[in-house]
Amino acid sequence: MKGLVKFAEGPEGLEIQDVEKPVPKSGELLVKVMAAGICGTDLHIMHDEYKYSPPVILGHEFTGVVEQIGDDVTGFRPGDQIVCITAVVSCRRCRYCRLGLNMLCSERKSIGSGVNGAMAEYVVVPADLSYIVPENLAGSDVMALAEPLACMVRAVIEQSQVNAGDVVLVSGPGAIGQLAAFVARSQGAFVILTGTDIDTKRLLLGKEFCANETAQSREELDALVTRYTKDGVDVAIECAGAAASLDTCIDMVRKRGILSQAGLFGKKIPVDMDKILMKELTLTVSYATERTSWDIMMRLAAQGKLAGIEKLISARVPLDNWQKAFRMAENKEGFKVFLVP
Ligand SMILES: [Zn+2]
Ligand SMILES: [Zn+2]
Repeated sequence: MKGLVKFAEGPEGLEIQDVEKPVPKSGELLVKVMAAGICGTDLHIMHDEYKYSPPVILGHEFTGVVEQIGDDVTGFRPGDQIVCITAVVSCRRCRYCRLGLNMLCSERKSIGSGVNGAMAEYVVVPADLSYIVPENLAGSDVMALAEPLACMVRAVIEQSQVNAGDVVLVSGPGAIGQLAAFVARSQGAFVILTGTDIDTKRLLLGKEFCANETAQSREELDALVTRYTKDGVDVAIECAGAAASLDTCIDMVRKRGILSQAGLFGKKIPVDMDKILMKELTLTVSYATERTSWDIMMRLAAQGKLAGIEKLISARVPLDNWQKAFRMAENKEGFKVFLVP
């Protein structure tokens, strides 16, 4: 089968290769991939800025149909459409594994970096970490957005505990910011999405997709926050991974509000800790997903609360044209680009 394999350092160490079609072992599912989304992590792996074990097939955001089941698998049948948790290997013994926090296990390996991923015709995944896509979404590839959605469930619902009636600021209108805003809205929050002068298109989509209000400059944002709150937003979620965006979040959140870090900066950045201290802010952070995040995300899916989510898919590109698709993702053309094997 064809797979997009990272086999050596440098962007030239990534190519389509002919690899053996995997065989499901005990407890595993063989899945025919419908679509795999390109994520910032894939771009980082291409440039060796994120840990990976070569040779490895990239792709952790996917959905597909079970073609074959291994021994001792119950609850799944060939033909089921599934999604799967990313952290598929962990020690199951350490403090974090015992708490169900597999992402924090020091022996953790994830699909698409530590073990073979879904930018291929087939992928093998553990059945006990997989979920059957609910009927209302089955047959479509939109659930390839399941993983980034679960990430924002972790950031917005689990870690920041956004409530109905909260005014939430999301800074950074890329795919992650849009999904953060989408999840916050699903909780009944009033969402303001903000970006910079290069974000006109993204904020336009935000307005129809996930945000009650959008702001493209600090002046516009100041005006909105004054209009909708007495003394600042209840929760500010930083999704851009940019120092200026974090400053905006710190300034806009009210005293004793929640400052939530969802974006990765990729480097050390200056942080105005005194402001955080003097406002007695609670700082929450989130690193990818845990099983609980997927449980909540799948309930939202089954309840029909993901309606409209397909607006985030900007293009579906054949796997063979992966270079074009990666370029689109790198140039931030649109939001999510799916590779279709
Ligand atoms: Zn991702
Ligand atoms: Zn562990």
